[in-house]
Amino acid sequence: MLPEISPDKPVFLCRKNILSSQTMKPQNLLQPRPAGLYCPPGDFYIDPVRPVERAMITHGHADHARAGHGHVLATRETLDIMELRYGAGFAESRQPIGYGEPLQQEGVTVSFHPAGHVLGSAQIAVEKNGLRIVASGDYKRHPDATCAPFEPVRCDVFITEATFGLPVFVHPDPMSEIRRLTASLTQFPERAHILGAYSLGKAQRVISLLRAAGHDAPILIHGALEKLCCYYQEQGIDLGELEPATVEEGIEDRAAGRVVVAPPSVFGERWTRRFADPLNVFASGWMRIRQRAKQRGVELPLILSDHADWNELTATIRETEANEVWVTHGREEAIVRWCELNGIMARPLNLVGYEDEAE
Ligand SMILES: [Zn+2]
Repeated sequence: MLPEISPDKPVFLCRKNILSSQTMKPQNLLQPRPAGLYCPPGDFYIDPVRPVERAMITHGHADHARAGHGHVLATRETLDIMELRYGAGFAESRQPIGYGEPLQQEGVTVSFHPAGHVLGSAQIAVEKNGLRIVASGDYKRHPDATCAPFEPVRCDVFITEATFGLPVFVHPDPMSEIRRLTASLTQFPERAHILGAYSLGKAQRVISLLRAAGHDAPILIHGALEKLCCYYQEQGIDLGELEPATVEEGIEDRAAGRVVVAPPSVFGERWTRRFADPLNVFASGWMRIRQRAKQRGVELPLILSDHADWNELTATIRETEANEVWVTHGREEAIVRWCELNGIMARPLNLVGYEDEAE
């Protein structure tokens, strides 16, 4: 079920169906280039994959937020996350922008809006001469207590991700997935539940969901998650009591019947063998595909995604009221076809360099 969009919720300025009266062509306002999505009149890139002079960053996942740009504009949280990951010198200069604050860049109006993907994640609206394009970055519509909820922005052209852009991908209720984990903890109190979750966003969301499900025991975390979990807590997101997973003594005893959150890369590595009788759990939208769980030796796959599923993608496209959709990273063809069947112009954007790493 999608969250209800209440009618009185502020939606960024309404203006649509004006393509015919404007002089600006969408491809002159934003266009794919080898370094990423480029805005010629504003002279900036959105989520560039190569170092550029001016970058606007949608969120902190590594394939969108890279180090080495000249000037970076992003939400304060995304800038903080980039600093945590790359160090204070990740760019020559940086500038924070709040949600909904319009900013002028060479005659182009730019504004950031919540994307509901991870803490600080944003869609970027770019507007000139009455033409508005929204680059949504990665987004989801399922509720997530660890970040601001997605806000639909009316636009002429909507750029959507398509990570789960096939009708087969319909994510289940996150809480019902988490209850499968708490049930397993009760059933196997002697086993350490090694929960693979990406370090930015997914890890904090699973922990937050466990707390919402009433799991109040300390949760053990892999060293790679420490900084980001700590940052989320500093931002007022309650993750409960967290402890380092690896201390030299008594590891096996401490971890029995406990949740140990770690990056998914630990599966099959020596690290997991520190724990007695580990039970591998993986929280990912890809766990819908049984084969993927099997390949990774996952005993308890949880279908939990920070990306929109098929229903969320198509509902969101409708809500933006865009008359043109550009589809990127993922299963472009099915979404393009759906748009065409629904009378919306659509094309794949063929941007390179984005992976489903962060899922
Ligand atoms: Zn992402």
